[in-house]
Amino acid sequence: MRLFLATLLAAGWLTAQNPDWSAPFPAHTIDGNLHYIGTKDLACYLITTPKGHILINTGLKDSMPLMQASAKKLGFNLKDVKILLTMQAHYDHVAAFSEIKKLSGAKVYATEGDAAYLEDGGKSDPLAVAFADQDFSFKPVKVDRRLKDGDVVELGGTQLRVISMPGHTRGAAGYLLNGVLIVNVPSVVVPLIGNKLYPNIVEDYEATFVKLKQLQPKIWVAGHGSQYDLAAKHAKGSFADPAGYTATIVAAEKTYREKLAREKTAKGVR
Ligand SMILES: [Zn+2]
Repeated sequence: MRLFLATLLAAGWLTAQNPDWSAPFPAHTIDGNLHYIGTKDLACYLITTPKGHILINTGLKDSMPLMQASAKKLGFNLKDVKILLTMQAHYDHVAAFSEIKKLSGAKVYATEGDAAYLEDGGKSDPLAVAFADQDFSFKPVKVDRRLKDGDVVELGGTQLRVISMPGHTRGAAGYLLNGVLIVNVPSVVVPLIGNKLYPNIVEDYEATFVKLKQLQPKIWVAGHGSQYDLAAKHAKGSFADPAGYTATIVAAEKTYREKLAREKTAKGVR
């Protein structure tokens, strides 16, 4: 359990012990029409256009009032969200999907891998098996469009490129908007060896690390504020941090390799 706890804490899990997940954080503009309306740690990105908005991530099931307050502070309204996206279909990023979909009538776009979890409320997610004693489920939503790696999501003159980054979830993804990378940092929260619900998880992580190391964003943000030093960057008023990106991916890969080696030893796999 200790190992589990360490893994969970490292990944920012255990909502009861992470008040940052529901603590407010000042709404702000990161770059151009990319805005932050998430909590202190659960990043939610509002991309505004004259034809309505794109929202990436929604936080916990009770996060909507905080997000709406943040959107309004910037002069926007969640009612105008037309497209809902996520970076990883885990409850801490998608639990308010159904509520925001109801409010706005937005269409949900998701990668094939995450669409399955979104449509069954996380039941088929290996997480549900790995932590059977905890409830990580959320209200399911219908997925209106399946996204593939390289697809472009377009709204009101804004183009968002989908970059699949599987591993953390089967359909984990990031997005590229005018040179800004919204990256899903590949932390590990489910077994890598013998994972029956996700047999190719190791191949996916390996390919994701190769892909992420090739990207060289000047400005980048992530699914959790803590993963990209949100508070410090916001205080400084600058999100440019190319060296921080490389360091973050290198550190994530090191943690992944250590976990993989530990599991191989424990399970007698070469
Ligand atoms: Zn997650």
